[in-house]
Amino acid sequence: MTELTAEVVIAGAGPTGLMLANELALAGVDTVVLERMHERTGLSKALNLQPRTAEVLDLRGLLGRAEDRSFATVADGHFAVIPVSYAGWNTRHPYQLGIPQAEVEAALEERLAEQGVKVRRGYELTTFTQDANGVTVTAGDLRIRAQYLVGCDGGRSTVRKALNMPFEGIEGQGHGVAADVRFTKTPPGAPTEWRSMTNMVTSQAPGKFIGVIPLAEPNLYRISFGDRLNRPPNLRAEVTPDEVRTAVAERFGPEAEIAEIRWASRFSDDSRLAANYKVGRVLLAGDAAHTHFPAGGQGLNLGIQDAMNLGWKLAATIHNQAPAGLLETYESERRPVAQQVLDNVAAQNALIPTNPNQLALRALFRDLTAIPEVQHHLSGMVSGLNIKYATEDPHPAAGTRLPDFPLPQGHASTLFHKGNWVLLTKTPVPPPHTAVLVAQVPELPWPDVEKVLVRPDGYVANTTGVWPS
Ligand SMILES: Cc1cc2nc3c(=O)[nH]c(=O)nc-3n(C[C@H](O)[C@H](O)[C@H](O)COP(=O)(O)OP(=O)(O)OC[C@H]3O[C@@H](n4cnc5c(N)ncnc54)[C@H](O)[C@@H]3O)c2cc1C
Repeated sequence: MTELTAEVVIAGAGPTGLMLANELALAGVDTVVLERMHERTGLSKALNLQPRTAEVLDLRGLLGRAEDRSFATVADGHFAVIPVSYAGWNTRHPYQLGIPQAEVEAALEERLAEQGVKVRRGYELTTFTQDANGVTVTAGDLRIRAQYLVGCDGGRSTVRKALNMPFEGIEGQGHGVAADVRFTKTPPGAPTEWRSMTNMVTSQAPGKFIGVIPLAEPNLYRISFGDRLNRPPNLRAEVTPDEVRTAVAERFGPEAEIAEIRWASRFSDDSRLAANYKVGRVLLAGDAAHTHFPAGGQGLNLGIQDAMNLGWKLAATIHNQAPAGLLETYESERRPVAQQVLDNVAAQNALIPTNPNQLALRALFRDLTAIPEVQHHLSGMVSGLNIKYATEDPHPAAGTRLPDFPLPQGHASTLFHKGNWVLLTKTPVPPPHTAVLVAQVPELPWPDVEKVLVRPDGYVANTTGVWPS
């Protein structure tokens, strides 16, 4: 048995674990990242970054890497596959970036390695214990003593199960299959570029859906299909080539010839949320804390934003620089965000019609989305741009994201690259704390505001500039 010490152990090197590891490395926290798989699978799973996630990556100078690995810029988002525009939001990134999950992970792992942290692959966390001073984690021949453990180990989280954490929600009735399929030639009527969500998903029969998204290689498509009313007895059963062929034939006709099914996996429409995100010195983030049907393209985005919220709080706690109760705000801020996503996913599921009444409801709902305020509301939800955390400051800007506005040189986002707090002020003021970077600016996004204190994750702490106690 090899004994190690660390300040934090992260179980799982998916997008959530890798983002969190980057945040902790930036703050100088000694972190061990355990990943049970020997290699990244390369499966694409999630295909998009939402506007708020693009902003979050930009705050750390990571967006360029994701853009370099992306294959599409998608002008809109969607709610129940009804396109919704991000145009009404004050953001520099009013679009989805089309990028396979494996590429997001590769970009994050590359930056992590540059920060001197290597993911320990082939190490599966099997057990842990915790006491008042720390946690002891066992993974293969490693035993690690650390101050905190974060379970970023996905929907079937070992960490969550070991905590006996209730993971409740809606038990769905249906299921879906996602498969990356290469055709011998472009199937009839299939799009060749992913520019919008319009007509990306169609329905051949009540409750059934099939989505077709062109990927980076010629004739390679993400085919997602499913049935809202039926699920196979075993949701973990392998997807058979015949299932994929049948769905493809229903969508494109018999002449669509499949050259290769690169991978296929099944997903459920269950929605579940952990009762708590923190138990003593053990925390949960990403799919370990919440899982849902991938409607609207939100899961990976939620996980990366969990990590962005948790990283600086955990680092400040470890460095004894945190105001009392700061780490507890990770749950009080992020759990309601996940609940909102689960609720909007449930509403999206209900809008996949299974009978004529629901068909009429969907048509009516589609009409309503033509109203700009409705578009704004829906796109704010799926993008994460509408998030507002509770603060004591009554100003409407407090608790919202700082829009990335232009400065005489560059943009405000560049001030956050080191993961620090930022005080933006129109008049000279001393820093309220040594950890704060003060930047004098000619204008702020809110005309009536003289100064804003912004947290490392880009949310406005207050408009008074006073360090939170
Ligand atoms: C078909 C499909 C399509 C999707 N499409 C989208 C989309 O378009 N947009 C979107 O935002 N989201 C989408 N999602 C959801 C998205 O894939 C997940 O939300 C995302 O993977 C969550 O990231 P994570 O890091 O929290 O968990 P995971 O990606 O599950 O990563 C967990 C990691 O932990 C490792 N691990 C597990 N147990 C242990 C252990 N005991 N010890 C060490 N390591 C362990 C695993 O090997 C894995 O690498 C989709 C999901 C599916 C299934």
